[in-house]
Amino acid sequence: MTELRPPATTTDAGIAATSDEHSLSAGPDGPLLLQDHYLIQKMAQFNRERTPERVVHAKGGAAHGYFEVTHDVTAFTKADFLSRVGRRTDVFLRFSTVAGELGYPDTVRDPRGFAIKFYTDEGNYDLVGNNTPIFFVKDPSKFQDFIRSQKRRADSHLRDNNMQWDFWTLSPESAHQVTFLMSDRGTPRTWRHMNGYGSHTFMWINAGGEKFWVKYHFKTDQGIETFTDAEAKAMTAEEPDYHLRDLYDAIRTGDNPSWTLKMQVMPYEDAASYRFNPFDLTKVWPHRDYPLFDVGRLVLDRNPANYFAEVEQSAFEPSNLVPGIGASPDKMLLGRLFSYPDTHRYRIGPNYLQLPINQPKSPVHSYNKDGAMRYLPGHGDPVYAPNSADGPRAAPELYGTDPGWGVSGDIVRAAASLHSEDDDFGQPGTMYREVLDDTGRDHLATNIVGHAAQDTTPDMKARVIEYWRSVDPALGAAVAKGLNGG
Ligand code: NDP
Repeated sequence: MTELRPPATTTDAGIAATSDEHSLSAGPDGPLLLQDHYLIQKMAQFNRERTPERVVHAKGGAAHGYFEVTHDVTAFTKADFLSRVGRRTDVFLRFSTVAGELGYPDTVRDPRGFAIKFYTDEGNYDLVGNNTPIFFVKDPSKFQDFIRSQKRRADSHLRDNNMQWDFWTLSPESAHQVTFLMSDRGTPRTWRHMNGYGSHTFMWINAGGEKFWVKYHFKTDQGIETFTDAEAKAMTAEEPDYHLRDLYDAIRTGDNPSWTLKMQVMPYEDAASYRFNPFDLTKVWPHRDYPLFDVGRLVLDRNPANYFAEVEQSAFEPSNLVPGIGASPDKMLLGRLFSYPDTHRYRIGPNYLQLPINQPKSPVHSYNKDGAMRYLPGHGDPVYAPNSADGPRAAPELYGTDPGWGVSGDIVRAAASLHSEDDDFGQPGTMYREVLDDTGRDHLATNIVGHAAQDTTPDMKARVIEYWRSVDPALGAAVAKGLNGG
């Protein structure tokens, strides 16, 4: 076809369209004709434009960029993309809110997702974190219930603060994350002005096979900035897409945001005798025990060209762990290793890893084959292994030491084995007393009261007060005063 400027409209099959505006009819006012296959294609495709939205983290935005190693970490990991100071790896980072749907306002009180895909030479490495170093629950069997309590009721289809506090007050392990959520960090000013955390404990393994437990902290180079509750509510009314627009405009105008990656490293043997369970996702490792050290810098410098293709169809999975990096006994992490790829197969389809945004930039020689919408040819025959036809063969030496750990004990349903300081209220209490300043403490109490005053029963208000009294008596008293005046 002759190339015109602007180009000629075609059907999806590349055939020149005869009109952008008029359907084919028998006479100008007559009935429409079934042979107008372009009209039928337009209507049918429109009905199929959406993939199911993510059950959580539905609303988000993302950008491309790179990660650059600034400090030598080869003593702790043999991961190739971390092997040399100055080494750069392409990344894609998606930010999101958690509980709302696709069109939900960006500035509501909620944790924010911070999901990174590193396109390494050894395959995709995904670090699927949040803007908080902790989480509401520590066992994946409570995750679905937790999320339902934050979403919508079965009868009215409304969100319900009573339901939220019901779950939280019956789950004391939530107190640390709810403290973060109700503080001003629960309403970040922009995605650029918040930290990102890997949150879970992971394993790093060096070239000598030595194992370490690690935590990732991406500290914003823009500085932390938050909205007050009132500012966030005002922005929710003024511009529901405020965070999406802010990131897009910043990168469009060359104001590229960056984060400094800092790590905490715990010697492998420390975990068993540490004063609390280091794999408990509701706890941080205090910095005085395991100080942060610099590793690298992450920069975002390119907006997606197509939101649906790149952001909506992006698929992050904590199970994508490259040689030198492994999982840990964190039960939430172990649950997520299954649930993320599972949701992508449902939401996008079994061949989601062949979409350009998810495709590794390293060679793929898998024996998985066929299925809906598979289009990359793969390696062809032989279609099975082992084979004597020179097909791909596993090379265990490339992966090296298996990132496993020792296990023992009977099969049980129980909380993780107890350490001496495994309480639920200690760390949120420390945050309230030692990390927040007077204004932060005041805002925390006011934000809690504002949230818990809405739609909650008198019995629930009493439970809310008791919950915060357990975090700190002064905070409990401030919440009591706000909720019932005494
Ligand atoms: P530190 O004093 O060494 O660290 C306190 C941490 O709190 C810093 O990482 C700081 O990082 C962060 N912080 C500062 N202001 C706020 C705020 N308003 N809301 C949330 N976080 C804030 O103490 P510890 O390591 O002993 O931790 C004490 C408490 O701090 C913990 O119980 C936890 O509640 C909180 N915390 C700890 C983190 C950790 O990884 N150890 C991480 C974040 C919070 P920054 O200003 O860069 O965000």
